[in-house]
Amino acid sequence: MDLEKAKAKAEILRAQINQHDYRYYVLDSPEISDAEYDRFMRELIETEQAFPELITSDSPTQRVGAAPSHAFQSVSHRSRMMSLDNVFDEAGLNNFIRRVENQVGKTDYVCELKIDGAAIALTYEDGLLTRGTTRGDGVSGEDVTSNLRTVRALPLRLIGENEVPFLEIRGEVFMPRKAFIELNRQRGEEGLPLFANPRNAAAGSLRQLDPRITASRNLDLICYEIGYIEGKSFQTQREVLEQISDWGFHVSEHWREAKDATEIMPFCEEWIAKRDELHYEVDGAVIKVNRLAQRDRLGATSKAPRWAVAYKFPAEEKTTKILDITVNVGRTGALTPLAIMEPVFVGGSTVSRATLHNEDEIRRKGVKIGDTVLVHKAGDVIPEIIKPIIEKRDGSEHDFVMPAKCPACGNKVYHPEGEVATRCVNIDCPARLFESIMHFASRGAMDIDGMGPATISELLDKGYIHNVEDIYYLTEEQLFTLTNFKEKSVSNMLSSIERSKGRPLSRLLFALGIRHVGSHVAEVLARRFRTIDALARASQDELIAVEEVGPILAESIRDFFDLPRNREVIDRLRAAGVNMEEEVEEGPQTLHGITFVLTGGLESMTREEATRSIEERGGKVISSVSRKTDYVAAGSEPGSKYDKAVQLGVEIIGESELLDILKGERTPESKGKT
Ligand code: NAD
Repeated sequence: MDLEKAKAKAEILRAQINQHDYRYYVLDSPEISDAEYDRFMRELIETEQAFPELITSDSPTQRVGAAPSHAFQSVSHRSRMMSLDNVFDEAGLNNFIRRVENQVGKTDYVCELKIDGAAIALTYEDGLLTRGTTRGDGVSGEDVTSNLRTVRALPLRLIGENEVPFLEIRGEVFMPRKAFIELNRQRGEEGLPLFANPRNAAAGSLRQLDPRITASRNLDLICYEIGYIEGKSFQTQREVLEQISDWGFHVSEHWREAKDATEIMPFCEEWIAKRDELHYEVDGAVIKVNRLAQRDRLGATSKAPRWAVAYKFPAEEKTTKILDITVNVGRTGALTPLAIMEPVFVGGSTVSRATLHNEDEIRRKGVKIGDTVLVHKAGDVIPEIIKPIIEKRDGSEHDFVMPAKCPACGNKVYHPEGEVATRCVNIDCPARLFESIMHFASRGAMDIDGMGPATISELLDKGYIHNVEDIYYLTEEQLFTLTNFKEKSVSNMLSSIERSKGRPLSRLLFALGIRHVGSHVAEVLARRFRTIDALARASQDELIAVEEVGPILAESIRDFFDLPRNREVIDRLRAAGVNMEEEVEEGPQTLHGITFVLTGGLESMTREEATRSIEERGGKVISSVSRKTDYVAAGSEPGSKYDKAVQLGVEIIGESELLDILKGERTPESKGKT
């Protein structure tokens, strides 16, 4: 590779890494796996090593993390909080040992587990906790003291210490696996975006504006270093770990001293095999020079100490067996094949199902029922079948065949031209009904608190509901017969059903599941027509005249209201007292002429609520980014709109900045492009 080519390559890699860093460190929502990220980084390091003149001070190889967010006060660290260089195998480890021992001579090491959480620094003055910060960019971090105080494993006062006027302890805040699985389960149920992994969940929980949210997240803490101390000194890491533990911090019990690679490697191999046994995630081992005086001599690069290295464990892939491929029927009637597997623990949770999406996908992967397959967590969250292991076949495997009849209602299925999905035609299909009710009650729709999958299934099984409107005719006696429904849960359910009756028309339109009517279109329609009757009366031409409504949408709205059964649904909802109108508040039009694009999930409100708030203030929310867009508001897991904004140089704001704009604490600027 010549210099020009290397320069171009380094530039591309830096842009990619910077973007992934932003998602990972600022939004706590990575888009690629750590293994993929590490591959980018390794390539950049290799390119820079081959052409050192290409190294710039702002290269991601030269700096730690990302700058602290403005939502918290920024605090300078007394001594830099560094990252760690990575090695991936024994050869890498030997290189590290050679470099160390070339400088300080033969020495010994401490092996620790590398806990996959968020690094923090805790300051104690005269034995009392005075401040807790995140790592940030290593030079300064965010003051998250009130959030850290909610972590129960964190001692607010040092035990038995009166000689140390000032101390800074370093450690890792992490989310135990169980808490992570439960948090994502709840978020899934509430329709919120899931956290990619426990590390991002821990970092996201620490950076909440409301400490009560942090407190609810069951965070834990393990400490491993002293960042700064006055009044005491230590010779070795062993002494440091013992002292930290005596002060009342939780220190991982799995650390070991080692003389050389022959003792370090077994530690790594042991934990690669046993990592599942821990109640938290580890992504490697940290190998540290034991003697602190030698550490001072070894010093650090701009990014990482020279006296320690992370031995990264390989990303987890496991094998398991496909016991069956069943078919799920969705709200739109689409039949989705689902692999039922022998349960296997991979990437932090037990997995026994994985979607295979559609028949084409099964063919592309070449998967058969009975196959032994390789599985992993795509993006660290969603179980995915990578491929079948052909050598393990014994002839008993067989192909999946899409059923000719819907597995839920027995009606004929059809495969529309040009679509990958196979669909059930019956609108009363119980599986579709289940999904429709789930959608109707979901957070962005009628938001009926407590109406989750288990309750809906039971209501359907018991024959208490046959359609969405039956929800409003449920009786107290019926609810009492449901599993685990007692006085309190029954009254809670009745009041959340009652509350949902008052939702604005836009929510109702979205909840009804009219084809192509998403939450945004529902808002547009509700604002324009104000009542459901006016909308139901609107002709095709009147509908097309509405901005953002095209002929397909207009036809599907007309089809919906022309069907007598749907008019009956509306009549019964009305009779039950469900609101059918939209109140349009005309507050101060502070966002007049300003266009926003929303991408990713928001913590404090749904995307629909954000859209409504912007529109109420005269702003516009559009669906695609162009040079005319004033702001792209990016929540967690932003999509391609984020990339487009970076590409076009459109200003990207986070959730807290969006809130500031909505509250009038920040004056938005129209970029004068409209
Ligand atoms: P790192 O997490 O690989 O290592 C450094 C950190 O390890 C320290 O800051 C400390 O918090 C932690 N640590 C845990 N246990 C420790 C112990 N016993 N002793 C000392 N430190 C310990 O480095 P990083 O700079 O925080 O992050 C880089 C890594 O993050 C990458 O290798 C990649 O895996 C991941 N990443 C992924 C993406 C993505 O998009 N997927 C983006 C950015 C970073």
